[in-house]
Amino acid sequence: MNGLTQNGATTRREFLKRTALIWSALATATGVGSSDWERIFAAEFSDGPEPTADEIAAAIRVLSETSGPKWSDERLKAALTIQRSVDRLEAKDFNDYFNGSAENAARWIAERGVLRFLDAGFDKILREVPTTEVAEGTVVFWQIYNMGYVVKTPTQTFAVDVRHRRAPELEPLVDFTLITHNHGDHFTRSFIQAMEAAGKPVVSNFLDNRWKTGPDGGEYAFGDVKIRVNLVDHNAKLRRFVSTYEIDCGAATGNRVVYHVGDACNFAQLTPEKPVDVFIPHLAVGLDVPKCVNETLKPKLTLLSHILELAHDIDKWRWSYKYGLGICAKCASDTVLLPVWGEKIVVGG
Ligand SMILES: [Zn+2]
Repeated sequence: MNGLTQNGATTRREFLKRTALIWSALATATGVGSSDWERIFAAEFSDGPEPTADEIAAAIRVLSETSGPKWSDERLKAALTIQRSVDRLEAKDFNDYFNGSAENAARWIAERGVLRFLDAGFDKILREVPTTEVAEGTVVFWQIYNMGYVVKTPTQTFAVDVRHRRAPELEPLVDFTLITHNHGDHFTRSFIQAMEAAGKPVVSNFLDNRWKTGPDGGEYAFGDVKIRVNLVDHNAKLRRFVSTYEIDCGAATGNRVVYHVGDACNFAQLTPEKPVDVFIPHLAVGLDVPKCVNETLKPKLTLLSHILELAHDIDKWRWSYKYGLGICAKCASDTVLLPVWGEKIVVGG
């Protein structure tokens, strides 16, 4: 199950060439042309083999020990090491890893660095969520995968859009969970079942349970956390398909507001009632993220999400670190983070 077919390799090279062209245009348009970015180009075109176990272990160590809007050379290189493995894992292989037995998953994890990173990030979350003490005035986030986060306040722990093959292991750690919409990359069926079996709230606009959001949106309260839900468009066909969650994290956090908008595509539909502390958008669903960051919402912090969607083909909708960093640069702001799997982000305090 190793390696790409000749066709796969050709497709990938063409894809990289194409994205490089888009990237140069973006860099020119935004004035981003630092030597960091040029190095990214050079490395991504090196078209190297699957990273060695040592290379992956070093990359995981760097990525798990660093965080924030600034990417050091070391962190960029670590991301590129992971990216090399990402660019060799076909969607059908990811699906085989995700949906198969535990033994099958272990084989994939041993063989592919990107899956080792995904697994290590999840282990980090399982270790850190219960042991992290959240100070007054603070909210802590962990990036799981895609748009999935665990969020911990001084009083509550919850998760949004959890997609991970080991997702049920999160159930004992969270009080409730939110799902933005009915697309498979935003939830995990076994996690929903575990939450429901434990009698914990699962909020969505499509599951038939007592927390289902109706067509006019809704409001929820879990402990001191208050949530306002609006329905917005995913694209021209899927109208009012995505729930946006405006989450007031409660007095213990200084009423910090988290605004997770799932795969919302239209900035004009993003109308939170309160100023946004932490904005969580999809980086490439048509939403004008720089406009939201620079002009409309002006959040204190943005967690740019939905990179490395491994269930998408290598050359289609699998947005790279490089693509994400390009959007960050367009925002002309050091308040935009591109979190990696397992990354812990402390807001406030
Ligand atoms: Zn999605």
